[in-house]
Amino acid sequence: MKKTIFFNWKMNPESKNKAKRLAEVVKEAKKNSNFKVVICPPFVYLENLIKEFKEIEFGAQNCFWEEKGSFTGEISCKMLKSLGVKFVILGHSERKKYFKETNKEIAKKMISVIENKLTPILCVGETLKERKKGLTKKTLKKQLLDSLKEVFNLKFKNFRLIIAYEPIWAIGVGKTCKVKDALEVICYLKKILLDFFPSSSLLFLYGGSINSKNISLFLKEKEIDGVLVGRASLKEKEIVLMLS
Ligand code: PEP
Repeated sequence: MKKTIFFNWKMNPESKNKAKRLAEVVKEAKKNSNFKVVICPPFVYLENLIKEFKEIEFGAQNCFWEEKGSFTGEISCKMLKSLGVKFVILGHSERKKYFKETNKEIAKKMISVIENKLTPILCVGETLKERKKGLTKKTLKKQLLDSLKEVFNLKFKNFRLIIAYEPIWAIGVGKTCKVKDALEVICYLKKILLDFFPSSSLLFLYGGSINSKNISLFLKEKEIDGVLVGRASLKEKEIVLMLS
């Protein structure tokens, strides 16, 4: 199966023309690539990009758990689905840091994503302090089980679950996790989830300062199904190199 490179554009770029330009670069680079690509742009660019770039799949960076109603400023999974969105990133550490998003809220969003037949990309990650104290596994297990709490109770199990291991200390700082450490965590998370879901429904990503120089180190590992890329996904040269 082809590995997938997820581009998380965060709150970038600053205009729809620039977004279109980046998507064009992805489209060209993808032609000779062995990887699948999913772009997760800001909500406001989704509709145009989905219409214009049929060969690329798209994801959202967040959602709200209710379908519709008086929730000013929020976007539902039903709305995303109607645009042709396929994936939703949930639990990103920036949402936890800046918007105080909790695992309980993430758990509700997970259900809405799955019920709307979208695929969640659940991010989990530890701080440097937690890693130094030897609390990585304990922290991640709690994030994972709390965020999936409602999902465990679902009667149907025919959905895909993507888990992105994103050590917080490696996001946006140019410092990556060692491949062997990422693998240890991913194998640990997989072992926990295999008690609940078939292996065929689970995919595992690594994210944190991935760029054209280090991407292949992660993608060559059997246990790593793809990567989640932030900053490097906004640089034309990097896009081309990462997909080559
Ligand atoms: C991210 O925000 O998910 C991410 C991995 O960012 P960066 O690649 O910039 O570290």
